[in-house]
Amino acid sequence: MRRFLSIASLCTLAILLSFAPSGQGQGRDSHRSDEISPPREIIFLYLHYDRGDITLQEAELRRGYLPGYKLQPSTGYRAELIDNEDQRLFAVTFEPPLLIMSPPPLPGDRGEEAFLTLQETDFALILPYSRLASRVDIVDPRGITHLSIGVHEMKDRTERWPPIAPRPVKAGLVPGAFKILFIGDDYTTADLPLFQSDVLAHSALLLSVEPFATYAAEMETLRLDNTQDLGCYHHPVMTRLILCDHTKVLAVASASPYDEIIVLVNDDEYGGSGLITIGGGGSTTYAVAYHDVNAWGRQVTVHEFGHSFGGLMDEYESGIPTGPSIAPNCSDDPTSWSDITPEFYLGCSYGNLYRSTYSDCLMRTLVPDTGFHYCLVCQRKRLEPLLDALLGLDHRVFLPLIMNKY
Ligand SMILES: [Zn+2]
Repeated sequence: MRRFLSIASLCTLAILLSFAPSGQGQGRDSHRSDEISPPREIIFLYLHYDRGDITLQEAELRRGYLPGYKLQPSTGYRAELIDNEDQRLFAVTFEPPLLIMSPPPLPGDRGEEAFLTLQETDFALILPYSRLASRVDIVDPRGITHLSIGVHEMKDRTERWPPIAPRPVKAGLVPGAFKILFIGDDYTTADLPLFQSDVLAHSALLLSVEPFATYAAEMETLRLDNTQDLGCYHHPVMTRLILCDHTKVLAVASASPYDEIIVLVNDDEYGGSGLITIGGGGSTTYAVAYHDVNAWGRQVTVHEFGHSFGGLMDEYESGIPTGPSIAPNCSDDPTSWSDITPEFYLGCSYGNLYRSTYSDCLMRTLVPDTGFHYCLVCQRKRLEPLLDALLGLDHRVFLPLIMNKY
């Protein structure tokens, strides 16, 4: 949807900007609460993408939570909720989850095979339900409607309540906080204490790394004690890539509010993955990491979150000579970060793109030269602007264009 902000919403925006919270505001603290609102009726779409075409597999109404839609790609497909009079009630821009980035090679290993580009995949989309809604339209980037799904065709499963309740990992929370949801895969009921301690260790490292450490007061971590299979497996060729079933991950995640999802896999073999969109975030991405806190599991979580939340590219070389820059940390024009550092080195996902440090960024290696951190270009050109946009504005203000500026 090419939507131009009205004068009224620009005024609202100006007001929100001028009162942008510092994170320490008394007014906000007085609203602190650990309560999670009850689940609502949502539309859950099981979709299939095949070389540009999207088809419906199943549509249902269920009870659950919506993902945060604060970060949306600035271009892509659109899902629109339409009423009887052809008025749009809701619209979200999304990208089918096709680009899957891997964790860095283990120290000492070679760094090839950085990512996977799918031509077809099953995926899920969650939309709000309204009693006024008559249909959902899926519109492609050229404005062509691929699907029109009548609400009356959707299977009504609203009598089922989400099977598991979300648990706050970090208490004392601000409404409107940025919510990161951890979900376990391959943990049995007997393994849940292990999952809980894994989540504590992984979230502690994530929130200790800048820029997340600076924003930690407004970041909330939640966990779902899931024992359902999420279909995660190591890719047969790129073995450090762990792929999960997108529809299963989103179906389980809908039992909790969230802005971003991290799947922890109860598996001791090194691996992970991050779905990536241009501009970062979006309602179709998540990070996956193997759980092992005594090996590299926590570091993989932070790296994959750089992909799934930040839309950052891998800074190691993939052996592929040329390709496009889709994130500011791998650029064909290193002068774009000359305000941060004069340094640049050839080789960043593709052979034709530059990175800003030789080997001092966790998007390149598990062991950056000066400690486990994102380089300044990752922080300042992407992660900080995203967090500012997420946390500095009321979530009802819809600003897809800001999100994609770097
Ligand atoms: Zn990666």
